[in-house]
Amino acid sequence: MYLYNSASRRKEEFVPNHPDIVKMYTCGPTVYHFAHIGNLRSYIMEDVLEKFLRYEGYHVKRVMNITDVGHLASDADTGEDKMLQGARREHKSVMDIAAFYTNAFFADCDKLHIKRPDVVEPATSCISDYINIISTLMEKEYAYVSGGNVYFDTSKLERYYIFNDHDAEDLAVGVREGVEEDKNKRNKNDFVLWFTQSKFEDQALKWDSPWGVGYPGWHIECSGISMKHLGEDLDIHCGGIDNAFPHHTNEIAQSEAFLGHKWCNYWMHVLHLNTNSGKMSKSKGEFLTVSLLEEKGYDPLAYRLFCLQSHYRKALVFSWENLDNAQGTYNKLIARIAALTPDGSVDQDVFQAQREKFRKALGNDLNTSLGITALYDVLKAPASSATKLALLEDFDQVLGLGLLEKAAAKREADAKIPASAQSAGGIVITGEGDPDIDALVLQRAQAKKEKNFQEADRIREELKARGIEVVDTKEGASWRRI
Ligand SMILES: [Zn+2]
Repeated sequence: MYLYNSASRRKEEFVPNHPDIVKMYTCGPTVYHFAHIGNLRSYIMEDVLEKFLRYEGYHVKRVMNITDVGHLASDADTGEDKMLQGARREHKSVMDIAAFYTNAFFADCDKLHIKRPDVVEPATSCISDYINIISTLMEKEYAYVSGGNVYFDTSKLERYYIFNDHDAEDLAVGVREGVEEDKNKRNKNDFVLWFTQSKFEDQALKWDSPWGVGYPGWHIECSGISMKHLGEDLDIHCGGIDNAFPHHTNEIAQSEAFLGHKWCNYWMHVLHLNTNSGKMSKSKGEFLTVSLLEEKGYDPLAYRLFCLQSHYRKALVFSWENLDNAQGTYNKLIARIAALTPDGSVDQDVFQAQREKFRKALGNDLNTSLGITALYDVLKAPASSATKLALLEDFDQVLGLGLLEKAAAKREADAKIPASAQSAGGIVITGEGDPDIDALVLQRAQAKKEKNFQEADRIREELKARGIEVVDTKEGASWRRI
């Protein structure tokens, strides 16, 4: 497969370091609040990547951190720890906040059919790993102590910027974030590895270290957790585009300085979800969560479809109107699948040809919108329903749209709608309110009851020709137009 690599700014053929396993790392959420649907767009697209790799036959080991300490209000190490903000906002302890929002995050992921990574590690459980890395960085003189904190010295690197061409001044932290510069830093882009002197006296979680009691910086978590579970090399590191600088840039700096060799081969960054007024954030405008979508009557999987309809490297504009369209498309798609009854056998030639189209789309830098087109091509194909259903099930391993489950649920729900009911001799017919059709369906049910299967089949064919589908129920039968 081909994947765009943010580090080389090119689409590259994906070749893992070890042929039998793909090592994948994802930056996880900072669990001080609910995730907004913009954050979740990244997790949806990363989920598609993981599932496609598995679909292609790779074994994947995927690791994700949960940031429960050290992520300050600004990504540039200034402001207050976000966890502390959350705790104060809700009058709870930092640990309670972390537990609550970690659960909330995975509940959202479940609703969006985002698979849980193989390893999920809270930042607070790997303190000794960070201390080990920082100690080595101190020994190698990539790190220094200043004003009580331990900083990474970016001037020691041959190349610091990986994901952008801007010069140091342009991206200077103070300028970028509009906050006061940290005078303890030797260079503007140096970053904190370990805090001991914090202006926030009430930092809840602290640990002993060779540099004094304190807590780790945000960036060191991901290097520590990745190396703990995946070793010294990584195939794919992913995250939202906001993470490229400074977070991922700093992860590379400290990891490669520590290891003395290249760390990660492919970097995948998912673009923003924008609203008409700009980038979506927790502080701006309506705080869009999965729960809010549900309250407004949307299926979270319609949001997943909305994300899949466009490419992950393009900014996506969210509006209620756009989501309405996605929900409408999703409903129609499910209705079309629900109308398929598994008859005939799977035509292997058709199956393989359609599958190849899908693989080609996804294998070209995860072109999910073409993947969705391939899905519609299946529905339109002159093939048996059994072939179509087999293909839909196959594609959905990657797309995660719950196609067959939702279609089955729709059939069941439709069968229960007593739009018009006609009963005779203990047989109950339900349908869409057309007495003529009711009568025909009843005739068929009676024929079946009398074991006159020839007549029952004849009526079924007649109904089919009129665009009517009949489903046998415990009480008799139900019908609907297809
Ligand atoms: Zn990270």
